[in-house]
Amino acid sequence: MKTHDYISLEERYGAHNYRPLDIVVRRAKGVWVTDVEGKKYLDCLAAYSAVNQGHCHPAILKAFVDQAKRVTLTSRAFRNDQLPQLYKILHDLTGYEMSLPMNTGVEAVETAVKAARKWGYTVKGIPENSAEIICATDNFHGRTTTAVSFSTEAQYRSGFGPFTPGFPIVQYGDAGALKRAINANTAAFLVEPIQGEAGIIIPPEGYLREAARLCKENNVLLIVDEIQSGLGRSGKLFAYEYENIRPDMVIIGKALAGGFYPVSAVLSSKEILGVFTPGDHGSTFGGNPLGAAVACAALKVLVKEKLVERSFTLGNYFKAKLCAMKGAHVKEVRGRGLWIGVVLDREARPYCESLMEEGILCKETHDTVIRFAPPLIITKKEIDWACGRVKKVFHSLN
Ligand SMILES: *Cc1c(COP(=O)(O)O)cnc(C)c1O
Repeated sequence: MKTHDYISLEERYGAHNYRPLDIVVRRAKGVWVTDVEGKKYLDCLAAYSAVNQGHCHPAILKAFVDQAKRVTLTSRAFRNDQLPQLYKILHDLTGYEMSLPMNTGVEAVETAVKAARKWGYTVKGIPENSAEIICATDNFHGRTTTAVSFSTEAQYRSGFGPFTPGFPIVQYGDAGALKRAINANTAAFLVEPIQGEAGIIIPPEGYLREAARLCKENNVLLIVDEIQSGLGRSGKLFAYEYENIRPDMVIIGKALAGGFYPVSAVLSSKEILGVFTPGDHGSTFGGNPLGAAVACAALKVLVKEKLVERSFTLGNYFKAKLCAMKGAHVKEVRGRGLWIGVVLDREARPYCESLMEEGILCKETHDTVIRFAPPLIITKKEIDWACGRVKKVFHSLN
């Protein structure tokens, strides 16, 4: 079968809730992806940062295969020998006392929401059913009915109501707005330290620090969604580190399992996660031994290959090279680490299509932004190669 055969099958028998670029991937290794025609591409999306460690990383693959041969699923009705090791690694790496494993990112968001609400009722003393969790404009926290209940993106909500109440929205980047929104029923403030889906939006300097201070002052939990920004993508282990804060809860996912498996988690304290008692919350697959083994291996790769540091250094290098291409239609280049948004004054989709022709895979976000977020194992030489191609596309579309 050729590219168009796969595409027509997919279009005919699959729901059309995505509009992918017309490349059909057959295999991938490191930063390189090969399509069914045998053409190679440099992956500059890294599955929205789920493959920070690179495609099919050999150490993670080994852990995956070894564990798949032993035991894949026990359910949490029984214990397994991998999950405790994941707990320990997460604790040692992040300093958070405890974690709670889930599968997809949005499930971890839901978990944080439930923990914050229950904390609000049982610890803070908020009257039953009136807890509020403040969220920011242009956020992205996933696609469940609760997560889209606090989205401000019309398309994410349209046709999916009624929505879950209890989520006031404040302007992202405006600490004053947060201050005005906090009241006696506020349990938490849920925020992305950098908004990825919104177009790699970095809030004003001091915003998160002020938000953390306001939360502390008002006995409100600060929940940071690091599902995309975390685990090295921003050039730090967590993007919140740029503001020297310590959130009460951190939500991680995506790169946590190096793209092999959906694994997510909420990191927090004993006090906060302690609100959950047996039966309160759970997931059949959450904390399964296969996912845990893979996540352990993925985190070890992150440390061993110094991917956080690589992201910082090579991100600055890549960003400087892209900055030098500012011009007629390239208005702004922004980002942190290997997470760079190139802002155009027109639709980014044709650029992504031309980049694909040139062997570079990236995806537009919010119409006019091209996101460059390659696996963190990318080399300087590969960045140079990519920049040559990007330059060519920017010139040809002028
Ligand atoms: C991807 C993402 C999510 C949702 O994760 P899923 O695994 O797709 O459910 C939530 N928050 C942020 C910031 C994300 O980037």
